[in-house]
Amino acid sequence: MSETSPKLRAELDGVPAYKPGRPPSADGPAAYKLSSNENPYPPLPGVMETVCAAAKNVNRYPDLACSGLMGELSDRFGVPLDHLATGTGSVGVAQQLVQATAGPGDEVIYAWRSFEAYPIITRISGATPVEVPLTAGEGHDLDAMAAAITERTRLIFVCNPNNPTGTVVRRAELERFLDRVPSEVLVVLDEAYREFIRDPEVPDGIELYRNRPNVAVLRTFSKAYGLAGLRVGFAVAHPRVAAALRKTAVPFGVSQLAQDAAVASLRAEDELLGRVGSLVCERTRVYEALVRQGWTVPETQANFVWLRLGERSADFAAACEAAGVTVRPFAGEGVRVTIGEAEANDLLLHTAEAFLKTL
Ligand code: PMP
Repeated sequence: MSETSPKLRAELDGVPAYKPGRPPSADGPAAYKLSSNENPYPPLPGVMETVCAAAKNVNRYPDLACSGLMGELSDRFGVPLDHLATGTGSVGVAQQLVQATAGPGDEVIYAWRSFEAYPIITRISGATPVEVPLTAGEGHDLDAMAAAITERTRLIFVCNPNNPTGTVVRRAELERFLDRVPSEVLVVLDEAYREFIRDPEVPDGIELYRNRPNVAVLRTFSKAYGLAGLRVGFAVAHPRVAAALRKTAVPFGVSQLAQDAAVASLRAEDELLGRVGSLVCERTRVYEALVRQGWTVPETQANFVWLRLGERSADFAAACEAAGVTVRPFAGEGVRVTIGEAEANDLLLHTAEAFLKTL
């Protein structure tokens, strides 16, 4: 390395790269993207109009405080304004949370495998990741996570449902876990897929946080609301934490297009949640068909399914791509497949059936 090259923080050497889901290749047969847990529906016409109207003012900075959106969120979720903070997607808010709580020498606990941004944002902050293996059933091992808490622990992510396995943590076990976490450790309930949950035993984090000052809830407009490309998410947390999140936010990070589209989406929630209902029906159809075919699939409450294919993960992803769908392989571990359009799901099911015979 040249002597004149800039000195970079040593922590960056350990930061893994975020691997985005592959888009369909332009020259191949793949026409459907089932690799990023996106919503397959295009924006509602009303939301599109709102975005186009906001585009007329892109020479201006957005509202720094996201006031319109914050007011709407406060009404919708029944939380005070000072319990809210927004960010560039919930991954942005997750990063703000880690920056607000953990630095060099501190520890951040999360299940593994879980959302791939956790190790990235933890290391960027200079903190040490503590990864607690999933159970044999692909779910969070909350007892092991509680046992992993030390005096250095500053934050714990609980991804519910878990990306990429789709498994959930239910009320009784989550409450028992929260009771064991010291009050100075922040527990972040990452509920990016909340709207897809149909299991009544899965608690709504926004109810759980109310009398627990060390609990914060992460939500996003990227999945159920179909605004992944606009980058807006939020946290619900007690005032000290929410204020810290506003400090660690990138100034003007959430564009006016995103703010206005999020407000329009909340106002069109019935229609959007109807679409979520259709995706949930498709999820049941895909899950049941896979099980009938003979696959072992963890029960999923998210908009994706997980196939633990181990060393065959890359082969399965290649077979899917050849059939016209891109999926998300995690080398040597498994493949996550987003629930998409019915035709895309059919292609996936045909491929899965044929592939099973090769195992
Ligand atoms: N949390 C989880 C568990 C996720 O799967 C994702 C998206 N892949 C996010 C947060 C971040 O989503 P966004 O930044 O688009 O809100």
